[in-house]
Amino acid sequence: MASPEEIQQELDSVEYELQAIELQISELHERQVELNSTKNRLKKKLKQATEQSPSAGTSTAQAVDLQSFVKKDFPWSKKVQKNLDEIFHLSAFRPLQLQTINITMSGKDVFLVMPTGGGKSLCYQLPAVSSEGFTLVIAPLVSLMEDQLMYLERLGISAATLNASSTKEHNKWVLNAMLEKSSEFKLLYVTPEKIAKSKMFMSKLEKAYHAGRLTRIAVDEVHCCSQWGHDFRPDYKVLGILKRQFPNVPLIGLTATATSNILKDCQKILCVENPLTLTASFNRPNLYYEVRDKPSSTEDFTEDIAKLITGRYKDQSGIIYCFSQKDSEYVAVNLQKMGIRAKHYHANMEAADKSDVHRNWTDNKIQVVVATVAFGMGIDKPDVRFIIHHSLSKSMENYYQESGRAGRDDKKADCILYYSFTDIFKVSAMVVMENVGQQKLYQMVSFCQDKERCRRVQIAQHFDEVWDSKDCNQMCDNCRHDNAFIIVNIANHAKDLVKILEQAHSLDEKLTPLKLIDSWLGKGISKLRVLSVAPPGLNRVQIEAVIAHLLVQQYFREDFSFTPYTTISYIKLGPKAGLLKNDKHTIMMRMKKDSTTKDPVKSPKLSSGDKNSAEVKKERGDRKRPLSDDSRMPKKVKKEVV
Ligand code: ADP
Ligand code: MG
Ligand code: ZN
Repeated sequence: MASPEEIQQELDSVEYELQAIELQISELHERQVELNSTKNRLKKKLKQATEQSPSAGTSTAQAVDLQSFVKKDFPWSKKVQKNLDEIFHLSAFRPLQLQTINITMSGKDVFLVMPTGGGKSLCYQLPAVSSEGFTLVIAPLVSLMEDQLMYLERLGISAATLNASSTKEHNKWVLNAMLEKSSEFKLLYVTPEKIAKSKMFMSKLEKAYHAGRLTRIAVDEVHCCSQWGHDFRPDYKVLGILKRQFPNVPLIGLTATATSNILKDCQKILCVENPLTLTASFNRPNLYYEVRDKPSSTEDFTEDIAKLITGRYKDQSGIIYCFSQKDSEYVAVNLQKMGIRAKHYHANMEAADKSDVHRNWTDNKIQVVVATVAFGMGIDKPDVRFIIHHSLSKSMENYYQESGRAGRDDKKADCILYYSFTDIFKVSAMVVMENVGQQKLYQMVSFCQDKERCRRVQIAQHFDEVWDSKDCNQMCDNCRHDNAFIIVNIANHAKDLVKILEQAHSLDEKLTPLKLIDSWLGKGISKLRVLSVAPPGLNRVQIEAVIAHLLVQQYFREDFSFTPYTTISYIKLGPKAGLLKNDKHTIMMRMKKDSTTKDPVKSPKLSSGDKNSAEVKKERGDRKRPLSDDSRMPKKVKKEVV
């Protein structure tokens, strides 16, 4: 039987190895980002090269195919261009719209992946009005169809839906229009249920098909077909019948959120054999992304926002996204007091009041809507010049969607997020019931804390996409500003915090983040302080950054307590806290340099001579090299490994 010393030795060695792996993982991660960026550059190059050489190899067949659809000399091109201008009153295509339209006009099946607000609807609406017959549109929600119908009606396009609340006369008119040769009827919207459940409707479709009237099928939110997607709808499963019954009718599938695996699944379910797939970039080049530290006093903060609205955004339209209904009301009232035309908007309002706010804002009678996330669906005002986040979003996906409501007219717009440490825990308590809520929130926290990497590069990672920070054009705070950094080892800080947490645990006390900070600073309730722990010599922002880093890195975790009125978050030791028992464990963190703090961080001494620690040191040495390599880090970043 091994002695405790021997076991301890073995345990130490395992922990050393774990540490080394940890470092390797972060190395590999950086390498992945770098390789992806190179891949992207090479792909672009290849695309340019194949455009110039018509004798491209078969592996790039699809790239060449897609390229050939950019032309404007198809038999239908003149008509399409004319309708874009005269019916839709739009002056130019957005990226990928022209290709998609040409592909579907030429009778081929196509899948289009494009972010929300990118302009997917035009890709079937414009072909619909530029072709004989009508287009069948499958959409998941009646409310979305109604929005579309209102829009089409304003444009003078003949379109309709068939649903449970339609009148008999309406149904009769539609079913007639589907077959009548001389009809100007262009778009028919139905839910998948209609296909699944109405034999009568299917028989009419069949007739329309044989009469050559069914010109095209558009499946909106096509990812709903797949069980792997987040939005699976069983009725979408039956849609394969369309391609089987009407094999000659081209199908266009549209979605904002499908990975290639989900698309393959949808393809199978819809019985579409070889669709061309187009994927638009999630990059919004006209949006300027910025994260600011939120002022701690509410008055200062409100004043800050008011200054922006009456100064830089004078007479311009915007949205402020707030954490809670209460916040949205509070902020709106305070802005009103300062003479700003602001109104709140949240789910707990009468429907009529909500649509009043929406309409008045659309008509520029209100300058700012101060809203919760309830202000979302169907918001597509083109000239929104600013989106202010009063507190961080609950996930990167949410942030992308919310900030994405700015600048739909492709003109420059700003997205400013105000980040504060205490907001993390408010949001955390809100998402506590969600499956991966915490994980998603921490990704958002990492985004806010990162004052170094291009915001676009960070957002891209969440969409499995690669953006090159070079393409940012200084349209984010991190690319624009010179931030000086030091890379510091915060292991000793972490150990001090662990001591405080362990002592509290032994006293049967739970520490909120604020109590933890107080104790660290030698403030607050005296029994929660630890004698051997000295204040860290960091400013408040740095202290909060250290704790947030330790949370995100899982040295700490949150623990929740539910009262009838509220959910409280406490800090507890996390799964990785055990690693700190090892004296040589390091936790590296990039910290913004602050001239007011001397000796920002004490670093633990790495003893040399020990094989394992030498290994870790070597890892660190290796790590240092690529970090100081110009290709990895922008030049402005000043690196000092403390
Ligand atoms: P999606 O379905 O991709 O979320 P929509 O089709 O609803 O997006 O379009 C979003 C907004 O973009 C609409 O207001 C639409 O009028 C506008 N839009 C679409 N195409 C263009 C274009 N080529 N130029 C300007 N605006 C466009
Ligand atoms: Mg859409
Ligand atoms: Zn950038």
